[in-house]
Amino acid sequence: MKFGGTSVGSIEALERVANIVVGTEGNKVVVTSAMSGITNFLVACCEDLVNLREETLEVFEKKHVCVAKAMLDEKQLAEFMKEFTPRMEAFKALLYDEKAAKSPYYQDNVTSQGERFSSLLLSHKLRAMGYKSVALTSEDCGIVAEGKPLNGNANLRMTETQMGINVMPYINRGYIPIITGFYGVTKDDWIPLTFGRGGSDYAAAVVANAMNADMLEIWTDVDGFMSADPRVVPNAVKIDEMSYAEAAELAYFGAKVLHPRTIEPVRKKHIPLKVRNSFKPQEDGTLISRFREYRNELLRSVATKTDLSIISISSPEIAYRPDIVSKILNKISENDDAIYSISTSLSTVAFLIHNNDVKNTLIKLNELDNDDVEKIDVTSDVALICCVGDELMSETGASGDIFGAVKAAGANINMISEGASNVAINFVVSNGDALPVIKILHRKFVEGES
Ligand code: ASP
Ligand code: MG
Repeated sequence: MKFGGTSVGSIEALERVANIVVGTEGNKVVVTSAMSGITNFLVACCEDLVNLREETLEVFEKKHVCVAKAMLDEKQLAEFMKEFTPRMEAFKALLYDEKAAKSPYYQDNVTSQGERFSSLLLSHKLRAMGYKSVALTSEDCGIVAEGKPLNGNANLRMTETQMGINVMPYINRGYIPIITGFYGVTKDDWIPLTFGRGGSDYAAAVVANAMNADMLEIWTDVDGFMSADPRVVPNAVKIDEMSYAEAAELAYFGAKVLHPRTIEPVRKKHIPLKVRNSFKPQEDGTLISRFREYRNELLRSVATKTDLSIISISSPEIAYRPDIVSKILNKISENDDAIYSISTSLSTVAFLIHNNDVKNTLIKLNELDNDDVEKIDVTSDVALICCVGDELMSETGASGDIFGAVKAAGANINMISEGASNVAINFVVSNGDALPVIKILHRKFVEGES
């Protein structure tokens, strides 16, 4: 079970969450985010460490101790402080450690601190309610991560071995482990490496994989996956069931329900995933699994990702020289930035990347041979529209209907990337056209208004 920042963000929320945990049958492992607002605060602290560290420590201590005092009686509070104080001292030492500050993983270490304290609060809340619980950090568990700072990936195999040794014994003895989300530890030095902002969802999927869970429940503050962002489309409806592929497309391309990489670790072991609202525990949420009933809906959900750029590289010989495509790809991937879409034609290769990554990508592309590249065009401030539906690609005329509606919204399509997966059609319009397009697609194909 994973609980996000707002689910552990206040005394009332923690109480609600504790009741959800103990009300769920079976062996449980809980993964938690930092209390809402805390990680933002830590990011700000990293940016101006010398001026902000005193204030950070003060606010940090106040916030967590104040919640603990409200939830726990005197004896329970003393137990809490026994664990809280050393963690707080380690945090303080970290903020004053000039040697550590030079490490490329320093920001990972500082921003991982929030989870260490929210997990402690939830664990002591459960203990106060009479349950056996233990708060474990990613270091304690051995959640092993690799990759670049602020963008780690879990090593699933090593994590499974480690958690079998470090966590399983607690479960066998009837404890509910409360584990820090958001980060793992590097395999050589065991230092914190975060999974990117919002990475606690992914951490929970990694834990579910490692523990061979029967189910992963992600408890958040929305009802589940929706047919569109309800802030944009008020008539959006909740989707009861989705396949892994559908959820992965939507999470990646804009629905802000799950961290985009959450699906992979559970899909690998066919572990079903439920997205549920911790403020409405009586409701069912969205179930994501291998099996989903065929519903014959052309469009199930439409999402958008804005502030992207198309980089279009022309080279007269691409069609005859596939090695040029691979050279270009290798260059771009040196930066490790996300590529949202690729399309090629006889003489161009077009990539979709985030606006912020354009500068560095162009620097890389300039290293290419002049003979291979004729010119490079950049179109910025575009949005990717992601349409997920039942066999969108095999349904005759489905894409025609969708593009017809886009035309009716007065929008121009800059790039199409269909066919890569048979559950989605993705295309690119200008940032400004994204909302009208989303609205018309939803009205026509989800609400079914002709
Ligand atoms: N606390 C981290 C963040 O705010 C991780 C998470 O909440 O998923 O990014
Ligand atoms: Mg989150």
